[in-house]
Amino acid sequence: VSSRRKIRLPVDSAEVPRYVGIATFMHLPLMEELDAVDIGVFGIPFDLGLAYRPGARFGPSAVREASRLIRRVNPATGVFPFALCQVADVGDVNCHPYDFDGAIAEIEAFVVRLRANGALPLACGGDHVVPAAVLRGLRDLAPLGMVHFDSHPDTLDVFYGKKVTHATAMRLAVEEGILDPARCIQVGLRGSQWDGKDYENSVQLGMNVVSYDRYESIGREAMIAEIRDTVGDGPAYVSFDIDALDPSEAPGTAVPEPGGFSMRDVQVILRSLRGLNIVGADISEVSPPYDPTGITAVNAANLMFEILCLMVEADVTRRR
Ligand code: MN
Repeated sequence: VSSRRKIRLPVDSAEVPRYVGIATFMHLPLMEELDAVDIGVFGIPFDLGLAYRPGARFGPSAVREASRLIRRVNPATGVFPFALCQVADVGDVNCHPYDFDGAIAEIEAFVVRLRANGALPLACGGDHVVPAAVLRGLRDLAPLGMVHFDSHPDTLDVFYGKKVTHATAMRLAVEEGILDPARCIQVGLRGSQWDGKDYENSVQLGMNVVSYDRYESIGREAMIAEIRDTVGDGPAYVSFDIDALDPSEAPGTAVPEPGGFSMRDVQVILRSLRGLNIVGADISEVSPPYDPTGITAVNAANLMFEILCLMVEADVTRRR
């Protein structure tokens, strides 16, 4: 796509102060003509999947505002993602505020429409049920590997009797044949458990699980190697539940679990995943009502930029 068209860049904040104008993700152009888009960044203002404290429906607007400070070039990798392919803010999914199943279908349809135009999704949730729907929209690229940052495995069979929740989404995507569990890795898991066997669900599905305790004992380099080894060369998805971060750096979330990743840890980890074939991602569970300083949204916006850099490089590689 981008080789045939002039790429529209984010607003140049050397000319327009970054606090001026309507907030889009990372000052990206807001584009509705999807046939010109390579990577569509969008919001999913939806939190009916939550069982504890709500508010993630306000995540996309808070992350858009917090992303005003993001500049153009990755300081560690030198990647200038916006120049390499057409990245655009493609708006929000108009999720129904009462109809849970309807909203899940709307999210899937939104991603299917991106795919029909040859674009890849980078989603900002919304609660962590959203990957269930985004992954359904990526069926044409399945089976997918996954790098899943979270404090919880999200692989219960049912939660309060329901199959589609933020505690079941990853199992669902395996059962639906969209995720290849042998190429999925979950990192950062911690927190009090239901029955002491919470991670066994993921292991029985065939996923690789790196609890936060194991991360601490093997160290960052070894875990990076394990991620790369598990995911391999095939198409893969990144799901980032913001509660993977320690609550001191991400208090604004539905289910905070102490003792987690620092922002610096995940920056380095993500920057070390260049070369993985990332075809889609979500960053979820930012809950602005519990984020008085706005740091959760700032961190989420920066994680979005890091993941975008990976997606753009992968897109360029595929088009070569
Ligand atoms: Mn989660």
